[in-house]
Amino acid sequence: MELTLWTYEGPPHVGAMRIATSMKGLHYVLHAPQGDTYADLLFTMIERRDQRPPVTYTTFQARDLGGDTAELVKQSVRDAYERFKPDAMLVGESCTAELIQDQPGSLAQGMNLPVPIVPLELPAYSKKENWGASETFYHLVRTLLLPMQPAPGTASREPVPAVIAREGRRPRVNLLGATALGFRNRDDVREVTRLLQDLGVDIHVCAPLNATVADIRRLPEADANVVLYPEVADTAARWLQKAFGMPIVKTVPIGVLATREFIEEIGRVTGVDVTPVLERERAGTAQADASRSMLPWYSRSVDSTYLTGKRVFVFGDATHVLAAARIAKDELGFNVVGIGTYDRAFARAVREYAASIGVDALISDDYLAVEAKVSELAPELVLGTQMERHIAKRLGVPCAVISAPIHVQDVPARHSPQMGFEGANVIFDTWVHPLMMGLEEHLLHMFRDDFEFGDGASPSHLHASAAAVAPAQAQAPSSDRLGTLATPRTFANSPTPTPIDAHEPVAPEAASAVGLTEEEEESRPVSAVRTPVTVVTWLGPAEAELKKIPFFVRGKARRNTERYAMDHGISEITVDTLYDAKAYYGR
Ligand code: SF4
Repeated sequence: MELTLWTYEGPPHVGAMRIATSMKGLHYVLHAPQGDTYADLLFTMIERRDQRPPVTYTTFQARDLGGDTAELVKQSVRDAYERFKPDAMLVGESCTAELIQDQPGSLAQGMNLPVPIVPLELPAYSKKENWGASETFYHLVRTLLLPMQPAPGTASREPVPAVIAREGRRPRVNLLGATALGFRNRDDVREVTRLLQDLGVDIHVCAPLNATVADIRRLPEADANVVLYPEVADTAARWLQKAFGMPIVKTVPIGVLATREFIEEIGRVTGVDVTPVLERERAGTAQADASRSMLPWYSRSVDSTYLTGKRVFVFGDATHVLAAARIAKDELGFNVVGIGTYDRAFARAVREYAASIGVDALISDDYLAVEAKVSELAPELVLGTQMERHIAKRLGVPCAVISAPIHVQDVPARHSPQMGFEGANVIFDTWVHPLMMGLEEHLLHMFRDDFEFGDGASPSHLHASAAAVAPAQAQAPSSDRLGTLATPRTFANSPTPTPIDAHEPVAPEAASAVGLTEEEEESRPVSAVRTPVTVVTWLGPAEAELKKIPFFVRGKARRNTERYAMDHGISEITVDTLYDAKAYYGR
């Protein structure tokens, strides 16, 4: 364990809290020091839940360590049962409590309470939050369903199409893996439910999100399990497959292509005819409806073609990273220059995908390593977690969040799924708009002194009022040293500027006439006669101005400006030189 400012995942007991908080009638007794109650804030502050998580902390203090902390555990379990009357209880410990070795799960099991007790042994020093959530869900499912497991030798399940034909009903599936604090889990469940109902498939149980303890006991009544988030539900689904013969639908429907594949897999597993929905989805072009996404049409539209080939870096949990990389590459035409995950348990799949597109995978939970990678690759868009949002902001790169860990803005009030066709619409909007805005801001910044954007400029569509521009601005820049856009503000309404011959000597001029600051004037060369220049110096204000340019084009702007300066005999680069160069190369 290492101390860090930020972390992608909390300790495994936070994963257990996510399961308990997702469900109804489940209570978690956590043997933990007083300070660990901070974890409540993750749910009430970030996800803005209207209730505290259903967790009782033993909140032992330093002075308790000399006494009987095991009795403290038992008393807390007893009190929690009396107070909350849960249908089942999870009992475990946090990192610090693990060192005391009280075995709270075993202690609670020995108390003969009239509800199932699920003891949790989550090694805090080697495992993390997602693993903790997965392990907790698996043990809960197993504890509640083990008594119902068919005896060895019982005939295996009939294929789903045969069962539903015999019983004359629609197929029903469980949705597994959605949890509290998951990225858009609430909205994904709603979207996938709508999609499945459209296909003629009912939802039997959604778990752990919104499930009761009784719902968990009903899981085997469904025809199949749909694993929405493998990080949380893969282990439980595989156990249900082994113990009850339940088939698994594994395709995660994030993106248009994956949603089509998900529909096809539902068709294969349940036997329903999915062709009408697929055909309806493929038929449309420019009209939105619930059964299709605008992403394919928008990404082919003229507005989007300048996005083709954008360099993208993708980082997050494995499920969202793999889905995002595929959407970026195959659906939007971006160039995925880097990919990685903090979740070592799923590193293999990410490595394999990275190899298939010819990049190295970054497997790390060190955000500084991720930041270094983003700097090195200089992408034009970062798709990541809220950590990458901070990183991208610092580096001046557009960013969209695609994965947990999340922050408040990733739990919007509106419906905002990632899955299904509507999810693809949301993804298109959230990824493409930062690129548009980035471009817009960059252009506004670069052209902010041009006459069209000046304070006195009238709207461009009102030609008649163009003459309203201030007379001083309407003069051509006769005193412009290089005859280019050295002082853009005075260049309003001028016809095309005429650059002079780069080898022609130029007479010295007053500094004020060429827009130099006092500081720049002091360091101005005595002779302004153009001589060959091989070394140029950036003056402070110009260097500061350069830094305002997004870093992914800054290098090019620097090189162009230096080349321009040398070609024009300028040894010291001022703010004006920078904009002169921009105008010169932009013609
Ligand atoms: S016990 Fe674990 S979770 Fe609690 S504060 Fe210490 S490191 Fe964090």
